[in-house]
Amino acid sequence: MGSRRFMIHSRTIQDGSATLDGELFRHMARVLRLSAGDPVTLVDEQGGEHDGVIASIGRELVTVTITRSNHEPLPEASSLRITVCQALPKGEKIDLILQKGTELGAYDFWLFGGSRSVARVRDDQRDLKLERWNRIAAGAARQCGRRTVPAVHWYPTAAEAAAAATHDLRLILWEEERTSSLKNRLDGTPDPGSVIVAIGPEGGFDPRETDLFIRHGFQSVSLGTRILRTETAAIAIVAILQYIGGDI
Ligand code: SAM
Repeated sequence: MGSRRFMIHSRTIQDGSATLDGELFRHMARVLRLSAGDPVTLVDEQGGEHDGVIASIGRELVTVTITRSNHEPLPEASSLRITVCQALPKGEKIDLILQKGTELGAYDFWLFGGSRSVARVRDDQRDLKLERWNRIAAGAARQCGRRTVPAVHWYPTAAEAAAAATHDLRLILWEEERTSSLKNRLDGTPDPGSVIVAIGPEGGFDPRETDLFIRHGFQSVSLGTRILRTETAAIAIVAILQYIGGDI
């Protein structure tokens, strides 16, 4: 069996060895119960790979001696860069969206405060929330063996997220859309390199928000006549886009 792979930040590698702590330490020492001498492969945030051997496992730290580093980052598996532009849903649904979206190959996540989002992020909570969301994405990337970790960004309003989009193809999932299917939207933009998809919260989009996205080049599409939960819509659209234009 090849050596186990772990996502790290390149700053943990100094002078030919890596020192790992926190959640990664717990995963390696407590969950996987690795021991000194076990081979591991560390993948850094640029996709560089570092083969090594566990030198020691202490009470809080794992030290890995690096034996070979390959800084040639492989391209992220999917050639299609998918940005999930998600209105903040209630509770832990965002964890599911980040985890499943990462597993399915989303490129990054733009979370925003929808006008009908029940959950709110105060300015003084922003950094803590972003750290937690990025940690979820990193954990999911590690679990599914991705070379790069999708970044999670925060926009306080739909307006700020919509204005920031420069993607080749911009879609807004609108359950009241009755004419434009995803297929004919995609037929209209052959081989987009990047696509951003806006998904509303449990209460849906405010009409002023849909207008605003459309003013910023987003095209509304339907995912059929059934009303999907926000997390279902987010996960489904990544899978569909990956099947049509990505690497599934
Ligand atoms: N307006 C919905 C209702 O009446 O229950 C609530 C919004 S729905 C639960 C959450 C989000 O998922 C929507 O804002 C939309 O972005 C997306 N969505 C759900 N079903 C959809 C569908 N059939 N077509 C397109 N988007 C859908």
